Amino acid sequence: MLQVHDGQCGLCVHFGEHHAQEKKLVEIRVKKSASETMLDECAHPKHASLHLRVTPISGCDGFERAKPN
Ligand code: SF4
Repeated sequence: MLQVHDGQCGLCVHFGEHHAQEKKLVEIRVKKSASETMLDECAHPKHASLHLRVTPISGCDGFERAKPN
C-alpha cells in the first residue's frame, strides 16, 4: 500500500469524481493509503476532455481537498 498525502490525487475531489462514493475511493480518503496498482480518472475541468488517468500519489496544482466521505 502507498501512503497518500495532502496535495496528491487520492485526496483530491476530482479523483474518480464521477463515482466518488465508491468504497475504494472513500477508503483512500479515510485511511490515506491506496493500492500501488490503482489508477482512476481525473475529472478536473481542465483534464476531463483528455481523460487523464492518474495514480493516488500523482498530483497537480488543481488539487482540491475531498471530504473523507
Ligand atoms: S491531477 Fe490534479 S486535479 Fe486531477 S485528481 Fe490529481 S490533484 Fe486532483
